[in-house]
Amino acid sequence: MNLHEYQASEIFAAHGIPTNGGRVAESPEEASVIAAELGGTVVVKAQVHTGGRGKAGGVKLARSAEEAANAASQILGLDIRGHTVHKVLVAPAADIAQEFYLGVTLDRARRQNVIMSSAEGGVDIEEVAANTPEKIHRALVDPELGLHAWQARELAFALGIPTEKVAGFVDITQRLYETYGSEDATLTEINPLILTGAGEWLALDAKMTIDDNALFRHKDTEAKRDLAEENATELDARASGISFVKLDGDIGCIVNGAGLAMATMDAVKLHGGEPANFLDVGGGANADQVAKAFSLVTADPNVKAIFINIFGGITRGDVVAQGVSEALQRVAVSVPIVVRLSGTNAEEGRELLSSIGLTATESMDEAAAQAVRVANAA
Ligand code: GDP
Ligand code: MN
Repeated sequence: MNLHEYQASEIFAAHGIPTNGGRVAESPEEASVIAAELGGTVVVKAQVHTGGRGKAGGVKLARSAEEAANAASQILGLDIRGHTVHKVLVAPAADIAQEFYLGVTLDRARRQNVIMSSAEGGVDIEEVAANTPEKIHRALVDPELGLHAWQARELAFALGIPTEKVAGFVDITQRLYETYGSEDATLTEINPLILTGAGEWLALDAKMTIDDNALFRHKDTEAKRDLAEENATELDARASGISFVKLDGDIGCIVNGAGLAMATMDAVKLHGGEPANFLDVGGGANADQVAKAFSLVTADPNVKAIFINIFGGITRGDVVAQGVSEALQRVAVSVPIVVRLSGTNAEEGRELLSSIGLTATESMDEAAAQAVRVANAA
C-alpha cells in the first residue's frame, strides 16, 4: 500500500526525522487559510501516488495566501501521470542549498535491505540509475544485524558531505532505516533530502510503501489508505479474498495458489505470451470464487484468452470443475478458455468440463502453449 507524501511525512516526523510539516487542503480557500497561518513563502504540492510532480507542474511556491490559493486552484484537478489531484500539501517553503537522495528498500537478489543514496537529489532516481549509475551509493544491511553507524558514515563520505554535517546525515539514515523496519515498509524514501541555506538537514519529500501482508498489525496505517488512488479491480478482488495484480498482457490467468500463479505466468511467457494478470483464487476454487475471478479477468478489455490452471491438492478437481461450470452460467465469458486440471479427482473434473464444451488437459506446459495459440489467433 502506498502513502501520500503528507502521510509518510507525518510518520517520518514521528520517528524523529526533520520534515517541514504543513497541512493538507482540498480547496484553494483551505490552502489560503493554511498559507496565512504559516506566514511567509509556502510550497503547494500535489498529493498523488506518483513521482515527477515537480516536472508536471504539481509543485509551486507561493509568497502570499492569495498566491497559495492560485497555486492550489491550478494544481487541484490536474492529471499527473494518470492520477487526478484531489489534495494539496501546503508547507513552509525551504531554502535549498543542496539536494540528496536517500532511500531504503529490499534487495531481493541479495536477500538484504539496501540503503541507496546519491548527491543527485531532487531528480528521478530511476533516471540517475539508468544514466549515471556510479552516482548511486549503496549499503547492504543484514536484517538480523541491523544498520551500523559506520555504514551510514561511509555513505556520507561517498556523497562528499562536509564533515560537520555527517552526524546529522547518519542520524537521519538510521531513523529512516528504523522506520522502514518498524512500520513494515518495503520502501522509505526521501528525495530530496536537503541541506538548507542555514545548514540544517530537512526531508523535503517523503515516500513510503507498506507491505500489504503486514497491514493487519498497522491498523492506523491501513486507515490512511486512499481508495481514490487504488486500482478498482484490485480493491474488488481483495474484498473477495482473491489476490489480483493487473498486468499488461492479453492472457487472463485464474490459478489456485500464489506459487502456481507465478509459475503460470512464467509458462505463458515461455511460450511467447504475456499474462494479463496475476490471480490467486485462494484455497477453495468454488463457484463464487471462480465467478468472481471471471468477472475480474474479463473486466480487462485486453484479455483475449483465459488460462485456468488448477492443481487439486486439498481442493478437489471435480469440485473446481463444478465451480467453473456454475460460474460460466452466471458470468458471460466471450473469450476462449483453456483449462489445465490435475491432482485429486482431476479426471472426473476434466470429464465434467468436456461435457460443457471445454477442453481440459493435464499438462501445464501443453495448456500454456494452447492458451498462447488461442490468444494469438483471436
Ligand atoms: P516530486 O517531483 O514528485 O518528487 O516532488 P518533490 O517534493 O520532490 O518536489 C520536486 C522539487 O520541487 C524538489 O526537488 C525541489 O527542487 C522543489 N521543491 C519542493 N519543495 C520546495 C521548497 O520548499 N522550496 C524550494 N525552493 N523548492 C522546493
Ligand atoms: Mn521527490
